[in-house]
Amino acid sequence: MGCRERAAKSALLRIVADGDECVPDPRGTLPGRGAYMHPVTVCLDLAVRRRAFPRAFKAKGPFDSAALQRYVERVTP
Ligand SMILES: [Zn+2]
Repeated sequence: MGCRERAAKSALLRIVADGDECVPDPRGTLPGRGAYMHPVTVCLDLAVRRRAFPRAFKAKGPFDSAALQRYVERVTP
């Protein structure tokens, strides 16, 4: 998801849907269908623009990615 580059799962951030919100799940403990992407702003922007979240979560969306954005900015300044 995002740039679609192949990467080891350990390099990727798991994201799950909580209602209509995208939530980062760095420890991989949250239930539900997960989406994986690099925890960087470029990849997040791409994912949002390509509507990758509704596709990944098999839901109509749109999904709020504000919390995810803040998380990504914190881990990858
Ligand atoms: Zn990426």
